[in-house]
Amino acid sequence: MAVIVEAPAGGVVKERVAAGGSVKRSGTPPARKPDSQDEKGIQVAETEKAQISEAEKPQVVYSTRLGDPFHIAELATKFGLGQKHMTYIVSLSLTLIILIAGILVGLPIRILNSTFWGPPAPADTHRRLLQGIWDFASKDCIGVTASPAFLGIILIAFYFVACTPSIFLDLADLTVTRKFKIQPKAMPTAKDMVKCVALQISNLATTAFPGIVFQLIAQGPWPYGGPAFCLWACTGSELFPEEAPSVAEFLFHNLACVVIFDASYGMWHMLHHKSMLLYRHVHSLHHTYYMPFSFVTQYASLVELAPVSIYTTSIPMAMGAHPLTQWAWCFVNIQLSVEAHTGYDFPWMLGNWLFGGKALLGLGGPKSHDRHHQQPRTNFFPFLSWGDRYFGTTWQPPTKTGN
Ligand SMILES: [Zn+2]
Ligand SMILES: [Zn+2]
Repeated sequence: MAVIVEAPAGGVVKERVAAGGSVKRSGTPPARKPDSQDEKGIQVAETEKAQISEAEKPQVVYSTRLGDPFHIAELATKFGLGQKHMTYIVSLSLTLIILIAGILVGLPIRILNSTFWGPPAPADTHRRLLQGIWDFASKDCIGVTASPAFLGIILIAFYFVACTPSIFLDLADLTVTRKFKIQPKAMPTAKDMVKCVALQISNLATTAFPGIVFQLIAQGPWPYGGPAFCLWACTGSELFPEEAPSVAEFLFHNLACVVIFDASYGMWHMLHHKSMLLYRHVHSLHHTYYMPFSFVTQYASLVELAPVSIYTTSIPMAMGAHPLTQWAWCFVNIQLSVEAHTGYDFPWMLGNWLFGGKALLGLGGPKSHDRHHQQPRTNFFPFLSWGDRYFGTTWQPPTKTGN
């Protein structure tokens, strides 16, 4: 039953999940303590055994001793700060550096826009295809969509809507849907769900809600790309373009957002698994559950939610994406992220077919990130498999020998 994991310092962990390892039906998905487990190796296994019996859960033991590649401990001493605060500073600095890199990739696309997506010709049927939707959003619903705060409000609402179906499936636990579970015997309890939602409401109350209130009062800043930048007194009735994006522009910008976001957040994520302090103080909270369910998607530190939000909005802005494109991309981003945490792999899920799915674009699908929660030294990139293939961190099936 035991799982043996051995990895060289800084290397990729080889893990073997015990054959037949299972989790009790109604039990809480075993939560790892999000602190120093990674550097303590076997000691963690002992802690976990105390929480839940060996027969009840698949065992994953980490023996990798993470280092301090960013010299956070040294910097903390030098500047007289606590390690936790210095870790936050380093994490936010990495967020900024990666953001600049993402914007530098997005800006040339903005320049190309005028070449490829010029003013529409009268007989441009592609533009007409989305014009009806855009007219509905920008004219019929202008009373709602014109506000700069609309984007934040609709995305928060969409996140909870996207989480809901799989939560119902978890609670109903139907035989017909259970066979689509990635880890079949793992089911969250209502207590886990409440715990996750409570943290998310707390995070929203301290960041997003004040931001939305500010946007409602100042009517700015304008959260979309396009030719105009507006910091206050912004309204869609003046700033929304008349024309809808062409289908080609819409698809290309969405594809570019998927690729650039995947690379940006994937790098941030991988770096937070390579540093003991970044992992411990920032990212480990998200790894509390190694059998995720949809509310785990945003069960994370504010320092981690910052890059997710910033990259999601700044990348389409940098490339000058149309507001309709930006709405679509944000929905796609949330949907893919939630699917990756539902614990289900239904064939119709967006991650299995968007832009040709795994076959054409190399999308990892819902299983990919679920496996990252099972084996956190693999599958760092959230949507695509390119980055992990490049860095040699793609998840490998457990071997029978396990060594
Ligand atoms: Zn996750
Ligand atoms: Zn991770």
